[in-house]
Amino acid sequence: MGYIRIAAGAYREMVHHCMEEKPLEACGLLSGSEGTVGRCWNIRNVNQSPVSFAMDMEQVVTALQQMKQHNEQLLGIYHSHPNSYPYPSIFDIEHVVYPCSYLIVSLNRLRPRVRSYRITGGDVQHEPIWLVPS
Ligand SMILES: [Zn+2]
Repeated sequence: MGYIRIAAGAYREMVHHCMEEKPLEACGLLSGSEGTVGRCWNIRNVNQSPVSFAMDMEQVVTALQQMKQHNEQLLGIYHSHPNSYPYPSIFDIEHVVYPCSYLIVSLNRLRPRVRSYRITGGDVQHEPIWLVPS
């Protein structure tokens, strides 16, 4: 594919969640069908930290079950960088566990910046985000 398609509503919810949690890092999941993200799942950052995140696994399991019930796939995993650039950290790259898009919402400037990546075996490929109407 080389890009990720996201419904505008799910995109806004992701950015809003990240802005709400600032100065802490926020995290969550993006799901959808036919390769288009239609839903954003806010997940609690159990680290409650401005420089790291770990997802609440109970919420992740519940979200994955609901995706399955609705015939949706996990298409993306997002987190925010409240005080740094929209580029994955070494830690982010080393902790990739699932073959999906990895999105970073950077909040260190006036306007949020969102970037998406495909990360495989330490190799980081930027992919454009294509917003579609909800
Ligand atoms: Zn990060």
